[in-house]
Amino acid sequence: MDNNNDTGLGKVVRRRELFAFAAAAATLMVPKWAQAAAQVRKPRPERVLSLYNLHTGESVKATYWADGKYLGSEMRSIWRVMRDHRTDETHPIDPDVFDLLFALQRKLRTSQPFQIVSGYRSPVTNAMLAEQSDGVANHSLHMVGKAVDVRIQGQAVRTIGRAALQLKQGGVGMYPRSNFVHVDVGPVRRW
Ligand SMILES: [Zn+2]
Repeated sequence: MDNNNDTGLGKVVRRRELFAFAAAAATLMVPKWAQAAAQVRKPRPERVLSLYNLHTGESVKATYWADGKYLGSEMRSIWRVMRDHRTDETHPIDPDVFDLLFALQRKLRTSQPFQIVSGYRSPVTNAMLAEQSDGVANHSLHMVGKAVDVRIQGQAVRTIGRAALQLKQGGVGMYPRSNFVHVDVGPVRRW
């Protein structure tokens, strides 16, 4: 404030201007969408996944994320369905894989469950599969819970693959003859 102003009037005006400026600045700092969001109470966001394992016939529908948090027990129920069915070993699956599937499901606008062709693979299983097929990497991301092979009823491999590529969240491999798409949360690449 200017102490040399002895009329007092200048101070008042200046203060008013300051208030107006502060109010304008506050409005500018909060984006329009956030102001709107604050006014309309939205239902709390959740992320839900439905999976069906083609080998075991087991299925799961889990709300693995809610109120800004990953939910441990729900995630474990997905790990179980994504386990190595050959050795019966369960391994943690990277939550990024769940988010990738969730994004994919939204992009495809489907409520059909993901059919799991291959989730976690133990080193023993992976070595066995690598011996049988050239398409199986020796150090597969399936072995660290960062990859999954899926299909969706009524969706072409190319459709799922293209949607996955657009997400740019990792690797995408399309296997039309075997009718599945490999997605992982490693570096972005395609084959
Ligand atoms: Zn795969």
